[in-house]
Amino acid sequence: MTFGVRTALRGIGTTIFSEMTALAQRTGAVNLGQGFPDTDGPAGMLAAAQQAIAGGLNQYPPVDGLPVLKEAIVQARQNRYGMAYDPATEVVMTAGATEAIAAALLALCEPGDEVVLFEPYYDSYLANVAMAGATHRAVPLRPTDDAAVAGSRAGAGFAFDPDDLRRAVSPRTRLIVLNSPHNPTGKVFTRAELELIAQVCVERDLIAVTDEVYEYLTYDGLEHVPLASLPGMRERTVTISSAGKTFSCTGWKIGWALGPAELVGAVRKAKQFMTFASGTPFQAAVAHALTHELDWVAELAKSLQERRDLLQAGLTAAGVRTYPAHGTYFLQADAASWGYADGGELCRDLAEHGGVVAIPTQVFYDDPANGRGLVRFAFCKRPEVLADAVSRLSTFRPSEGK
Ligand code: PMP
Ligand code: GLN
Repeated sequence: MTFGVRTALRGIGTTIFSEMTALAQRTGAVNLGQGFPDTDGPAGMLAAAQQAIAGGLNQYPPVDGLPVLKEAIVQARQNRYGMAYDPATEVVMTAGATEAIAAALLALCEPGDEVVLFEPYYDSYLANVAMAGATHRAVPLRPTDDAAVAGSRAGAGFAFDPDDLRRAVSPRTRLIVLNSPHNPTGKVFTRAELELIAQVCVERDLIAVTDEVYEYLTYDGLEHVPLASLPGMRERTVTISSAGKTFSCTGWKIGWALGPAELVGAVRKAKQFMTFASGTPFQAAVAHALTHELDWVAELAKSLQERRDLLQAGLTAAGVRTYPAHGTYFLQADAASWGYADGGELCRDLAEHGGVVAIPTQVFYDDPANGRGLVRFAFCKRPEVLADAVSRLSTFRPSEGK
């Protein structure tokens, strides 16, 4: 007798992040795959978590989060973007952005609905679309003409064709998921691009679900513009973010969703039967961090820009073609620079024989052929770790492992 998984989930394998981190552990390679920092968040936040645990904040919090966290989230949005949300009805805390995205898709899609994703897309979106019984249409992000120049800072690096976006919307489209700053390309969507997306959402009466987990991590003076801040968007947008990247605490899984009460209420409905609630002492610590540690975050962004430069300059010097990354933890490079047509093959050989783990970008595409030539490197590591990786990447030759 065999018990199969539900049809919609059969196409879903082990996430690439677990796979590549396990590979790094087995081979002892430097892990520039899964995006997590190798240093801790602000000391004040860590102390606040310890105090919360010692002080008895260890039982269930309210389903939508500790009031102190909801107020801190709303206040931080107000201060940074001038947007107002009601902490009582328009914010819900989740187990990381991951749960917020899942809950939003499960709560807002009917089976048979279509969801628009920008491709390459973060892997959990597709799994969640499948769980909701929905289907998706992809809008490709392609390297811009000037992007495939080593070290180029010009342009957005990756861009979409407005016609592709319009074509992706059908009468069955229910919502659009937008991730900016964008994983895995490092793209920060420009205001003009966001205006276009907003126009389509308004014209076609779509809901937008935005994944803004890298909202504080933009470089080169680029600003993060929340889609919800554009005309006509606040009432149709679920804005999602989390503490993991902002405060270097990816294991805490403190995330949230903001939006009009009707949409956030739907997210809450789904979320209450997923985790109910989680992370009480970490919620208190993140409330502290959002209120007192944003200077620390500004320094983190500066330091990440330097570390991006370190990795990019090292790769460029080694003759590797990279693409501009104006945000996130990640940059894209061409597998062909090492003599590989297939980034998956390069990543396997690099881990086994080159001492570095990266992510083959093709896993974030409907058709892997479209991302076959690209690999993603994470630069959220200490400078000495990046320097070590650069030296390994510079000397790696395909023939070594073959
Ligand atoms: N969205 C994107 C684009 C991500 O890169 C990640 C990984 N941090 C997540 C969502 C998941 O966020 P969290 O760890 O808060 O669940
Ligand atoms: N967001 C991280 C990345 O893109 C991974 C998170 C995870 O492992 N689920 O690398």
